[in-house]
Amino acid sequence: MTATATPQIPILDLKPEIDELRPEIMAAIGRVLDRTDFIMGEDVHLFEQEVAAYLGVKHAIGVNSGTDALVIALRALGISPGDEVITTPFTFFATAESISMVGAKPIFVDIDPATFNLNPELIEAAITERTRAIMPVHLYGNPVDMTRVMEIANQHGLKVVEDCAQSFGARWREQQTGTIGDFGAYSFFPSKNLGAYGDGGLLATNDDALADAAQMLRVHGSRKKYHNEVVGYNSRLDTIQAAILRVKLPHIERWNTQRREVARQYNEGLKTIDGIVIPKLTEGHVFHQYTIRVQNGRRDELQQRLAKQGIGTMIYYPIPQDELPIYRGQYRLFEESKLTSKAVLSLPITVKKDDINRIISSLENFSVQI
Ligand SMILES: *Cc1c(COP(=O)(O)O)cnc(C)c1O
Repeated sequence: MTATATPQIPILDLKPEIDELRPEIMAAIGRVLDRTDFIMGEDVHLFEQEVAAYLGVKHAIGVNSGTDALVIALRALGISPGDEVITTPFTFFATAESISMVGAKPIFVDIDPATFNLNPELIEAAITERTRAIMPVHLYGNPVDMTRVMEIANQHGLKVVEDCAQSFGARWREQQTGTIGDFGAYSFFPSKNLGAYGDGGLLATNDDALADAAQMLRVHGSRKKYHNEVVGYNSRLDTIQAAILRVKLPHIERWNTQRREVARQYNEGLKTIDGIVIPKLTEGHVFHQYTIRVQNGRRDELQQRLAKQGIGTMIYYPIPQDELPIYRGQYRLFEESKLTSKAVLSLPITVKKDDINRIISSLENFSVQI
């Protein structure tokens, strides 16, 4: 008997995109080698201009990572020990970590299970006299209700740093995420919607003084070489990464549209399956992740079953931040985050039609076997 090997469907495969753009990318890297302007070279400046134009923002500032973008944003805003920053417990560690890194305290508010994002209606109750800022995260590429967040921030005199690591190209009511608050912080980690081939990050702001502060902080706290004014960072966007990002930026709208289309097809195929809750295809959502909720405590079982069939999935995130050992015991329970962390499962999102159908069939079979 001949067994045909079932092709594996990984959670993410960067190869097709690399194959599509390889000649252009190799040429772009070659031009950097010819110029040897590896640090803050021509491509960094051009990328900053091009990405600012794309986002519709006055200043774009390339940095070394999304994490550094968050830290530098908080530092530029003067957030320091004793201050509190309100954010979500249901996120990647870098969000809360950046707040802790500047010596401030993350104050978590629970999420809205329908959006996976922090519930804006819970923010006001968490505000104290120490609160200085709100850090909403557009999780999975789904924009937070920024109208409500800005309303609360303005009422209480708070700064807003948008964590856009997962939402490059996402829009809240026609406006790009990351251009509504004081700062938007983006990541170009290879798996993000706009990914470099190494680490990279970006800050966006419409405020000249904040842009100046961030530009100073990324080069050791100096405006003029050797005239260091504050303790800063060595956190520049690498020229080779900027050159790669310049090749990729013109494709981001198409790629994000494809992600939305895959999400639409999943939703169509999965909407009638018992025990699975599908995500809303909200306006402006760019589906960094397509994440379902598996009911009745059967998430891990489903994940294992799919793995046996060669279908890769991931759990973003299995532990809410307030339950991590470094924060545990400092907070009350955030029930929705806790329940969500035990139910979420992200399916492959950069996949072809045949693979989508195969994944949908696997989920249908799983449901039948309840
Ligand atoms: C990836 C990510 C970050 C950190 O970005 P890096 O470039 O890896 O430092 C921050 N916040 C969220 C929500 C992320 O997903």
